[in-house]
Amino acid sequence: MSTTGSKEVLEMEKLLTSGPVIGHPTLAELWEIDHWVLPPARSDNQVRIYTFLLQLPIIGEADVYVWCPGGSQKTRYSTRQVYNLLREQLPQVSWYKEVWFSKGIPKHRFLTWLMVLNRSPTRDRLMNWGLITDGACLFCNSSLETRSHLFFDCSFSWDIWSSLFHCMQHQSPRSWLEILDFLHNFAGTKAERYLLLLTWQATIYALWTERNHRLHRNNYRSASSLTSDIDKMIRRRIASIRHDEPHLSSDMLTLWFSSSLPLQ
Ligand SMILES: [Zn+2]
Repeated sequence: MSTTGSKEVLEMEKLLTSGPVIGHPTLAELWEIDHWVLPPARSDNQVRIYTFLLQLPIIGEADVYVWCPGGSQKTRYSTRQVYNLLREQLPQVSWYKEVWFSKGIPKHRFLTWLMVLNRSPTRDRLMNWGLITDGACLFCNSSLETRSHLFFDCSFSWDIWSSLFHCMQHQSPRSWLEILDFLHNFAGTKAERYLLLLTWQATIYALWTERNHRLHRNNYRSASSLTSDIDKMIRRRIASIRHDEPHLSSDMLTLWFSSSLPLQ
């Protein structure tokens, strides 16, 4: 801390301005050669602040900011470090790389996150809350709509997902948890992995959007039309990373084109 920078306003302004120090004093105004010029303290808080001030060594060098997140001194402020200190620390979940992978589409990642937590308003949950009495699946109308049924026990959903998955030269398990497990343990190339995750999340997004359109707009689309949408979403995403990661984008596009999608 230095007295030469006359524009510095003391950090403890809130407490000081409620007492005898009026306005917005600068450090230079409160320091005179070798001692503080402070009015008598009027509260315990001000006594504590004065005690703290008296312990500070005053030197003639320029001021610098020093951040101490977690007790370690840093010359640069890090939002990440401060955020991690402020937020509640929880154990890392096993599926975070499948949900929050860096090349994912943000709205797809968010919806997938809700689905992994089973927090989306599927009709089984709406029935449990007493909001509806008919919980039938809007795709097949033959089973209760649950997360597991939508992804991908339902024959409508399964036809879309299994055909996309098969085209990428993989055999997919059918249950929600087994698919998560498969994606988690997938040992292919980075391009293959990103493509699988993009396809998985885009399929979840397309199916949930279609389910909402059927429920709220009475608007029905075919499986081939949804597959076409998923194809476009994936192509656009691959194109969007071409500038930053041309090789990865090229590998993903080659893989995607080499998969014989039913619509091609
Ligand atoms: Zn169904």
